[in-house]
Amino acid sequence: METLLNVEGINVYYGAIHAIKDISFHVNEGEIVTLIGANGAGKTTTLQTISGLLRSKTGSITFEGQNISNVRADKLVARGLAQVPEGRRVFLQMSVEENLEMGAYTQSPSGVPADLEMVFELFPRLKERRRQVAGTLSGGEQQMLAMGRALMSKPKLLMLDEPSMGLAPILVEQIFEIVQDLHKTGTTILLVEQNARMALSVADRGYVLETGRIVKTAPAHDLLEDESVKKAYLGG
Ligand code: ATP
Repeated sequence: METLLNVEGINVYYGAIHAIKDISFHVNEGEIVTLIGANGAGKTTTLQTISGLLRSKTGSITFEGQNISNVRADKLVARGLAQVPEGRRVFLQMSVEENLEMGAYTQSPSGVPADLEMVFELFPRLKERRRQVAGTLSGGEQQMLAMGRALMSKPKLLMLDEPSMGLAPILVEQIFEIVQDLHKTGTTILLVEQNARMALSVADRGYVLETGRIVKTAPAHDLLEDESVKKAYLGG
């Protein structure tokens, strides 16, 4: 399996706060890899660093074999890295369709209608609501829209930051089913979650993050059976 993303020895600071401490991990093509950890463990900071929104003081981030540590965030989208941010952040005043079109800003306009159809097939709810203003969607629908918007950029790597946050259990299940559907179509996914049980149930491999460090890594099904993981993240 080819390595798509390789993160090697990164350290990230917020002023004096050392948020990410010498983290290394990788994502192979076609995999779902999850980073699990408690609130504040450094999951979002890690994703923001990969997307070019924050900078590491050390180490390197390689995507498709090329060092992207100093590439600007907007350039990374064009190269196939898309992040769905925590809390969704869709454009609330714009319609569903306009939000999706915004996601295609790196693409040639001629392909946009077909890509819209691809997203609507994956998320029929969005098709029903294509003319509706995003601010009037439910939380689950906004999460679908944020994912659909990222898919419009045709990412090679889709990074999802806490897609389950604030959603009712039934919607969490739906979102994770879609994550699995995406996986089946060959999309490579880096999934950050506090909902470790759901994340590990769909992922191939997982990394456990504690106060800025990776403390454990294993195939996801092994982590689901790991006593310390069960105790700390799976409710016993
Ligand atoms: P959450 O699930 O709450 O987003 P997380 O695992 O994603 O948690 P991060 O948000 O990456 O964690 O935070 C890692 C550490 O960095 C925490 O100690 C947090 O308080 C700190 N931190 C995050 N953002 C900032 C910021 N803008 N300024 C200062 N410290 C920050």
